[in-house]
Amino acid sequence: MTRRRGFLAGLGAAGVAAGLRPDLAGATPTATPPAAPRWRNWSGLEHCQPRAYVAPADEGALAELLQRGAAPLRCVGAGHSFSALVPSEGTVLALDHFAGLRRVDAGAGLASVGAGTRLSLVSQALHDQGLALQNLPDIDVQTLAGACATGTHGTGASLPALHAQLDALTLVTARGERLTCSRSERPELFAAAQVSLGALGVISEMTLRVRPRFVLKRRVWLRPIAALLDEAPALAAKHRHFECYLLPFTGVGAVIVHDEVNEAPAPRGHSADEDVLKDLKRLRDWAGRFPKLRRWLAAKLIDLDQREEATDWSWKLLSTVRPTLFNESEAHVPREAGLACLRDALAAIERHDEAFFPLEFRYIRGDDAWLSPFHRRDSCSIAVHAAADEPWQYLVKDVGQVFRKHGGRPHWGKLHDRSAAELAALYPRWRDFQALRRELDPQGRLLNPYLRRLFEGS
Ligand SMILES: Cc1cc2nc3c(=O)[nH]c(=O)nc-3n(C[C@H](O)[C@H](O)[C@H](O)COP(=O)(O)OP(=O)(O)OC[C@H]3O[C@@H](n4cnc5c(N)ncnc54)[C@H](O)[C@@H]3O)c2cc1C
Repeated sequence: MTRRRGFLAGLGAAGVAAGLRPDLAGATPTATPPAAPRWRNWSGLEHCQPRAYVAPADEGALAELLQRGAAPLRCVGAGHSFSALVPSEGTVLALDHFAGLRRVDAGAGLASVGAGTRLSLVSQALHDQGLALQNLPDIDVQTLAGACATGTHGTGASLPALHAQLDALTLVTARGERLTCSRSERPELFAAAQVSLGALGVISEMTLRVRPRFVLKRRVWLRPIAALLDEAPALAAKHRHFECYLLPFTGVGAVIVHDEVNEAPAPRGHSADEDVLKDLKRLRDWAGRFPKLRRWLAAKLIDLDQREEATDWSWKLLSTVRPTLFNESEAHVPREAGLACLRDALAAIERHDEAFFPLEFRYIRGDDAWLSPFHRRDSCSIAVHAAADEPWQYLVKDVGQVFRKHGGRPHWGKLHDRSAAELAALYPRWRDFQALRRELDPQGRLLNPYLRRLFEGS
């Protein structure tokens, strides 16, 4: 917003919070079990004490580890998933040594990178070659393999999720086999491994479809929620990237669009996102128990004329930083159900006076990966959040019912309570995936308790 500090006029300035807490997923791993550090995820909700925390040096060491390491063997990316995909009392392994740009074929629009490369470094390395990814999620600290493994996505009605930008990958299985696959070589394995929850093996290298680097213009404005929801389909059709945030208990939403422009990048100023969040929390703290007062105050204090504009390289605008820790649930619903689901989700959130985080609404194009939450359907995604030090269960229990009602598939990296039977009904290729998983990992060495429950219901 143009008024950078103090999104709600009169509520005062909010200093930007401290940076991310140190994350053990980024700590230097060790191969000696007694010294293995505890691991925890970004929000602090998930943690474990593995026997070994290992960073294999190359594919040979990775294959050896997968065959002989203490089970369960779970690969960690940047530890930015909220769900319990990573925790293991056996081996946590990190691909710190599988990072960086390896090969570029600019003519074919292909770039191969180590699977443990952080998205920010993928973008930077591609930029240096005059290239860019088509789209990015909200943040870019995830590893490429970790992001693809959960179906991580950005927004854009005609743009698919990150894993759908893959062209080929190399997988090392629990039996120590090295398998390459692509859209033309072992296409079924490729379709399964694009979104694998780390259950088929460890991906060591990925080849991405890339494009010449490009500049985006970002525009942000506020709208009353009723008008915004009416306008959303047209905005999604008109802009390369459209998303919106509904601010609970205010009646107001923020529209964010990005469009490709032929302009020079201009350095981006301070983002107002954190200021908005702090002001919403302050409003909740003051008037949370009096929803009518809260709405009245919001109507008085929010200046609907606030605007933000920025022009920069795509990767510098699409991803941002999220210093405030939170827990999150997100579902992907068929596109035609998107707005109805969003309305219901807002109503469910507003039954909880403690809620203050905006709901995020995005558009994603369908793809063919077997466990892609966007499998064969263009989708809308709805995300709900709670501060990391506050209760989050209502996101799963109450808003989760709304997601269920609208045919939502859960984001694999976020909180949900879907059973194996429910998931099997949501994914046409579910049984094929499970059969392939059992073939590649017959002893279930890659399954931690969370994945056993998800895949086998046990
Ligand atoms: C602040 C924040 C913002 C977010 N924004 C978005 C967003 O905009 N859009 C979105 O869709 N999601 C978003 N997420 C969710 C996040 O992108 C996913 O949870 C993602 O999977 C995290 O990547 P990671 O590298 O941290 O992987 P981790 O969380 O460490 O691991 C995720 C999965 O990947 C597997 N894995 C990791 N490396 C490999 C490998 N080499 N081979 C095989 N499997 C592997 C792991 O075993 C695990 O199953 C956000 C999360 C946070 C905390």
